[in-house]
Amino acid sequence: MATNLTGAVALVTGASSGIGVATARQLAERGASVALVARRTDRLEDLSTEIEKAGGTALAVEADITDRTQAEAAVQQTVEHFGRLDILVNNAGLMLLGPVVGADVEEWERMLAVNVQGLLYTTRAALPHLLRAAEDGPRRVADIVNISSIAGRVAWNGYGVYNLTKFGVNGFTESLRQEVTQRHVRVGVLEPGGVDTELGSHNKPEVRDTMIDPFYEATEVLAPEDIADGVSYIVTRPRHASVGELWIMPTDQV
Ligand code: NDP
Repeated sequence: MATNLTGAVALVTGASSGIGVATARQLAERGASVALVARRTDRLEDLSTEIEKAGGTALAVEADITDRTQAEAAVQQTVEHFGRLDILVNNAGLMLLGPVVGADVEEWERMLAVNVQGLLYTTRAALPHLLRAAEDGPRRVADIVNISSIAGRVAWNGYGVYNLTKFGVNGFTESLRQEVTQRHVRVGVLEPGGVDTELGSHNKPEVRDTMIDPFYEATEVLAPEDIADGVSYIVTRPRHASVGELWIMPTDQV
C-alpha cells in the first residue's frame, strides 16, 4: 500500500528546470511541503506560486549547491521554514559530453562540482534532519533519492567524466544506504534514460550537433513527469520497503 506525503517536507535540488520541476510538482500534489532549490530564482518563484495556487505548499530557496556554505544554508532555510525535513531529492546535475583527448578541463570541473560535490554537501547537511524525521516524524521513515542516470550503469565513448560522476553517485548511494537503512533513512538511485529537458543544451555546438540532437531526433524520449512518477513511487512505499535502484528508460532507447 502506498502512503501519501501529507505533513512531510521535501527538498528538491535543480527545481528550476526539467525533472526537478516535475518532481516538485508531484511531491506537492501528494501533500508534501516542498523546498525548491536552484540558482534561477525567477523560475523557482514562478513554480512556488503555481504550486501554492494549486493548493500546495512550496518555498523558493536560491542556492548554488557547488558552494558548501550555500548548500548547507539551503537545508537550514528549509528546516527553519517548515520545521523538519523528510525527503531529499538530489536532482541538480550537468552533462557536458565530448572526448577526453583535448577536453575542456573547466567543463570537467563544473560537472564534478554539481554532480558530485553538490550532492555530497547537500546530503551531509540533510542527514541529521532526515535521521531525526525517521526517528520521531509522523512517517517514521525518511528518504534520499539520488537522480543518477543510465550513464551510471553503462559507459559510452564521449561520456567519460559524466559517466565518472554518475557511476560515483551509484556507488555512494549504495554505501550510504547500508550505513543508514537500519535507522530507517531509505537511500536509492533513480537512473533515467533520455528525458526531454534542458540538460543537453549546455553543451558546445559541436557536441549538440553530433551527440545530443541526433539522439533526440531518433528517440521518443521520456517526459520529466515519467521520472517524477518514479520518485513518487520510491518515497511513497510503506516504511518497511526500500527501493535501492530504479532504472527508467524510453522504450525505444537501446
Ligand atoms: P536540466 O538542465 O533541465 O535541469 C538541471 C537543474 O540543475 C536545473 O534546475 C539547474 O538549476 C540545476 N543546477 C545546475 N547547476 C546547479 C548548481 N550549481 N546549484 C544548484 N542547482 C543547479 O536537466 P534535467 O532535469 O534533465 O536533469 C536533472 C538530473 O537528471 C541531472 O542530475 C541529470 O544528470 C539527470 N538525468 C537527466 C537525463 C536526461 O536525459 N535529461 C537522463 C539521465 C539523468 P539552475 O541552473 O537554476 O541552478
